Amino acid sequence: MSEPKDADARRAVKPVICYPVETLPAPDMALYTRARDSLSKVDEVLVPARDARCFSVPRGHFFRITSVEGAQVGDLNLHNAQDVSERFYSGKTRALHGTHLTTGQRMWSSFPHLRPMATITQDTLGWYGIDPFGGSVHDVIGTRCDPYTHALLSDGGQYHHCCHSNLTRALSDHLGVSRAEAEPLVHDVLNVFMCTGFTRDTGQYFMKASPVRPGDFIEFFAEIDLLGNLSACPGGDCSSEHSSDAAPCHPLLVEVFKPAPKALAGWNPPAANSYDRTHGP
Ligand SMILES: [Zn+2]
Repeated sequence: MSEPKDADARRAVKPVICYPVETLPAPDMALYTRARDSLSKVDEVLVPARDARCFSVPRGHFFRITSVEGAQVGDLNLHNAQDVSERFYSGKTRALHGTHLTTGQRMWSSFPHLRPMATITQDTLGWYGIDPFGGSVHDVIGTRCDPYTHALLSDGGQYHHCCHSNLTRALSDHLGVSRAEAEPLVHDVLNVFMCTGFTRDTGQYFMKASPVRPGDFIEFFAEIDLLGNLSACPGGDCSSEHSSDAAPCHPLLVEVFKPAPKALAGWNPPAANSYDRTHGP
C-alpha cells in the first residue's frame, strides 16, 4: 500500500501518557525506609536452579530476592495468601508504571481487586536505567517461559523445567492440589533481574545477559498477605536461550523480614477497589 500524503504528519503526532499516575495512591517511601532500619529475618527459602519454590510473606513484612553464586533470572508470581484467585496483574502494572519496575513502583493485583500487592523498596540494579538497545531490568513485558511455546517452536519438543512448569509444580505442592488445578492459577510474571526490551526495527521482544551479580537484590514490602512463587529460570542469565538445560543456572535466595512492631505506625493495608462492580444499569 502506498502511504497517504499526510503520512509524516500523522506519524509526527505527539504521544500522550495513557495513565498519568499523579492521582495514583502513592506509597509512603519514607515510612518504609524508616521501617527497614528495624528488620529481623524470619524466614528464608533457597530456590534451586531450574525449579521453583513458594514462600509466604505476612502483610507488613518485607521480602528480598538475592542473586547468589552466579547471574540468574527469576520469574515471580504473587497471590493473595487468603484468596489465590487474586494475583499479580502484569499487564495493568505495565500500563501504570511502564515496561520495567524499580524502587517506589508497585505490583498490582487482578480484577476485581486492582490494589497494590507489593511495593519495591530497594533495587541494587536501579542504576542500570535504559541501555542503548532499549533494554532494562525487571520487566513486566515478558510472560514466563513455557512448554507450549517451546513445543510450537521446536516441532513438538518436550521440556519440563520452563518457569511455567516450575511454578505449576511448586504451587501444586504448596496448595496440596493437582497440577491440573494449580496450572490455571499460574500467571504472567515479574521477570526479576532479567534484561529485556523490544527491538526498534522489528518490535520483537529481546533479552540479553542480565547485569545482575551475586549480592544484588530486589526488595519488596508486602501490602497484603502474600503467597509468593519464584522460579529460577532455565535461561540462567538469559544471555542465549531458555527452555533447555543448555544455560548455566544458579539458585536464588528469598528472605523474609519483619520490622519492629511500632515501625509501621501510620501504615494501613490497601483498601478494596472502590468501583461498585455493577457495570452500568
Ligand atoms: Zn523462564
